[in-house]
Amino acid sequence: MKNGNVEIEHIREMVAEVEKEKFIFKNWFPRPGLKEKNTDFVSRLYIGQSYDKNQFDLVEDGWINDHCEICIKTLGEEENEYVESSGYFDGVDWICKSCFEELVLAENLESKLNALGKVKE
Ligand SMILES: [Zn+2]
Repeated sequence: MKNGNVEIEHIREMVAEVEKEKFIFKNWFPRPGLKEKNTDFVSRLYIGQSYDKNQFDLVEDGWINDHCEICIKTLGEEENEYVESSGYFDGVDWICKSCFEELVLAENLESKLNALGKVKE
């Protein structure tokens, strides 16, 4: 497991909120982003919200990584030691494969968390 630094309470809350039937496993892909004018900084994911065109430019494929909702692991195009190139996606949020399969789908989350050795009595 790669969840060493994640607060147990955060895991519980996130897992409780996840509507697991909405998530499907797929390759990560870039999404449109809003870039701050006169910079290269794409600071916001664009999901159709209104934005100030004097402040931002819309960049197709400008959103070049996401983070797992549970462990904040990076998901992006190029897989490497720090980045996974596929995961579970519900149309908005990403959850990495290990969090989804080992925590969200866990039959008994509490014993999983115990096994992680982080539940304090
Ligand atoms: Zn994760």
